[in-house]
Amino acid sequence: MGDYHVHLHPHGTWRGTGPRPGEYPDGHVEAYVDAAIANGADEVGFTEHLYRCVEATPALGRFWEREPRRDLAGLTEEMVVEDLTLSLEGYVTAVVAAKDRGLPVLLGLEVDFFPETIDAVLDLLAPYPWDFLIGSVHWIGGWAVDHSPSAFEFARRGVARAYEEYFEIETLLAASGAVDVLAHVDVVKKHGHRLAAPPVDLYRKVVEAAAASGTAVELSSAGLHRVVGEMYPAPELLSMFADAEVPITLASDAHYPHEAGRDRATLIEAARTAGYTHRARFRQRARTLVPLEG
Ligand SMILES: [Zn+2]
Ligand SMILES: [Zn+2]
Repeated sequence: MGDYHVHLHPHGTWRGTGPRPGEYPDGHVEAYVDAAIANGADEVGFTEHLYRCVEATPALGRFWEREPRRDLAGLTEEMVVEDLTLSLEGYVTAVVAAKDRGLPVLLGLEVDFFPETIDAVLDLLAPYPWDFLIGSVHWIGGWAVDHSPSAFEFARRGVARAYEEYFEIETLLAASGAVDVLAHVDVVKKHGHRLAAPPVDLYRKVVEAAAASGTAVELSSAGLHRVVGEMYPAPELLSMFADAEVPITLASDAHYPHEAGRDRATLIEAARTAGYTHRARFRQRARTLVPLEG
């Protein structure tokens, strides 16, 4: 597999281990590559968070100020300010340098999707030599839907409405064609909030939008390590993507070196079960399909 969702720094303030946010000392990229290869991966696609990069602030704006619920806006502002410790320029330089050293790495980015600001974001990203972009819905308005301190909002809003609002934005992202891959496409379930039956009508819209725009979807094992205990996408949703011939990438969403390339066998088995025989590979935003290994 290639692991197509990997971060070079954990969230939050520096905890005294590993490099400080925004620093890429000798051997740091190599530690991820070594772990990924030991786990059976053949390449590592780095996908740092756009919202953590200081250069993104003018494009993304103070998006939480559009949120009418002041408690949700406050939690998001706190989180974004704490995480705003990286530089797009520094990140790109570190990955390109690793590529120049001959390491099997790709330059990607995890792009936060807001319908209001995606055009400004794409303008910001245009000058850089991306291999692929993944797109994420982390916020409904100013509500950080996958952030545990804000999870109380599910009780206030209702799980059904949260799912509807989440998938409405995810469908806009899929239809936009702005990114190459949809990241953790049903992350709204992360904290274990479930509907009585899979929301196939919501699923259908995002699958159709991805198929129409030519956007791939990642099969991510990150959910296995969360409360929900299930990959993104859910098995029913993954089968719908397979039936619509939407290509997949394989992904760990690693934030530490030892997580790179993990769960390879589980991911490949789930992909095969859904009907996939190939995975997508990217170079300079051009996609090819290669057989699933294993
Ligand atoms: Zn994410
Ligand atoms: Zn991520």
